[in-house]
Amino acid sequence: MKDGSALVLFSGGQDSTTCLAWALERFERVETVGFNYRQRNVIELSARPRVRKALTQRFVNWAGRLGQDHILDLGALAEISESALTRPMAIAICADGLPNTFVPGRNLLFLTFAAALAYRRGIARLVAGMCETDFSGYPDCRDETIKALQGAINLGMATRFVIETPLMRLDKAATWRLAQDLGGEALIEIVREETHTCYEGDRTHRHDWGWGCGVCPACKLRAAGYAAFRAEKA
Ligand code: ZN
Repeated sequence: MKDGSALVLFSGGQDSTTCLAWALERFERVETVGFNYRQRNVIELSARPRVRKALTQRFVNWAGRLGQDHILDLGALAEISESALTRPMAIAICADGLPNTFVPGRNLLFLTFAAALAYRRGIARLVAGMCETDFSGYPDCRDETIKALQGAINLGMATRFVIETPLMRLDKAATWRLAQDLGGEALIEIVREETHTCYEGDRTHRHDWGWGCGVCPACKLRAAGYAAFRAEKA
């Protein structure tokens, strides 16, 4: 296992793009992994190569570090979960207080598959954008969950993986700020133009914070974070 290497769980959204920049700034070799679980918005997966290309074009020192991209098929997730991310239903809050975009155990599966891939690639570190300050309260985004999973993976694979979650304690404004600290306005521009967050897969409306419908929970969160980020600089 090489200590200077990392595998980033990379969806093509704002959070995982910021995590990718964070990893490229720190580690000599960085690979990316994305998951296809028949999510409604395949548009997010199509953002991945655009973001990777933009990062290597704008940041010469990162270009030499960015290695292979991997896509893993987790289609079984769509078969077992009734989520607004995988089924054509309206986004709403359920009786348990969680949005119906919640896919149970999704991050547990993602990290376990990523660890299996990292094992094969000789990569010691996993980087993921889970964040417990997020609006949604997804239980698999909690720091406690990730720490427990790291322990379980290391026991089960006889490894010493470290799962890095640089966004864990950040709100959305702080995530924009981190992007700016890492790559200045050039990185902010890549996040605005190339990344995709909107649950509805809308890339026809352009706002100052990027593309999206502007009304789904993901768009609202991204817009509010961007407004707060710009306000603190003004
Ligand atoms: Zn939206």
